[in-house]
Amino acid sequence: MSEIAHALLGASSAIRWINCPGSIRLTRELPDQTSEFAALGSAAHELCEKCLNDGSDAADYMGNDIKLKGCEFTVDAEMADAVQQYIDYIHTIPGEPLIEVRVSYDEIAPGGFGTADALNLHDGIGYLTDYKHGAGIRVDAFDNPQLKLYALGAYQEFGFLHNIDTWRLTIVQPRLDHISEWEITTRDLLAWGEEIKPIAELALTDHAPLHPGEKQCQFCRAKLSCRARADLAIQTAMYEFSEPTPKVDTLSDEDVATLLPLVGNIESWCKDIRTYALQRAEHGHPIAGYKLVSGRSIRRWGDAETVHTTLLQKGFDPNQFEIRKLIGIGAAEKLLGGKKAALPILKEITIKPQGKPALVTESDKRPALIATSAEADFSKVA
Ligand code: SF4
Repeated sequence: MSEIAHALLGASSAIRWINCPGSIRLTRELPDQTSEFAALGSAAHELCEKCLNDGSDAADYMGNDIKLKGCEFTVDAEMADAVQQYIDYIHTIPGEPLIEVRVSYDEIAPGGFGTADALNLHDGIGYLTDYKHGAGIRVDAFDNPQLKLYALGAYQEFGFLHNIDTWRLTIVQPRLDHISEWEITTRDLLAWGEEIKPIAELALTDHAPLHPGEKQCQFCRAKLSCRARADLAIQTAMYEFSEPTPKVDTLSDEDVATLLPLVGNIESWCKDIRTYALQRAEHGHPIAGYKLVSGRSIRRWGDAETVHTTLLQKGFDPNQFEIRKLIGIGAAEKLLGGKKAALPILKEITIKPQGKPALVTESDKRPALIATSAEADFSKVA
């Protein structure tokens, strides 16, 4: 199997290539764009590995630098606190973990492999734990293809050593206070592997179909220029209502319920097509009817020290031109030694007002509010 195939059917991109096999051929030639967030995540993973291997606490590394992928990160209170929560979780699992284990699921997806963060394997049950440093999107373990591929790889590599009939797959995402656990039997795991085998093989061909959709397109490197995604957005925007009888001029609540799930995909595509057009123009491919100009900008202070001195010399009192401001709560958490240490102090000195009402899908875990009057006073429903 070629090196390219090794990189192609990755576990972390499984949600994309399983749902859109053609994404492999569309992204094959595109450069990998490692973001600073991804590099920060890799640095945190490195700290997890160090701590679990040498039995130290994450705080022992505070102030140390971790160099990765051309970036350098200093272990600060926030990183140490997040990593420690993961280490504490791993210590609740019976047995010594295998750390950062390369697992191959080549029998399912040609050339596929990945790195499992922690594996604790026993007769009866295998624990596979994945650390997520990101604080943007909450990731759940339920039916998660990345974790299932790692588990298949672990079974392929170590299954002969243990009689594992159940897998506990866990995601620890400390910066969102989120731990998600899910169990699957080895039989169901292997059956799922058989289901995706033909998809993986198809994905490596030149005729693999494109199947756009919100979850697979979200992190696809081809999403800015993908025609299938553009077609889907346009077709969705051209949605036709079934004609009510008699004909009415305003949307019914049923119409709104039909439209709401469709708009997310159109919204994100609209932003992406603007980004793509700007990128093309910046790279010397003008878009007919458009031109590049300097964006609007607003005045701002130059060197703060010079501003301060100048205004003092002009006879002003600092109280007239300086505003004392409290730092943000996140920054205060760092100052107080991380989330855990800060919690009891912040409990005393912070308030959490009720958020503005937001409309979310029924699957959201927050309790529902009910409007109690036409002016929309809200109360919680258990
Ligand atoms: S943007 Fe969406 S449809 Fe296009 S290749 Fe990527 S995942 Fe497939």
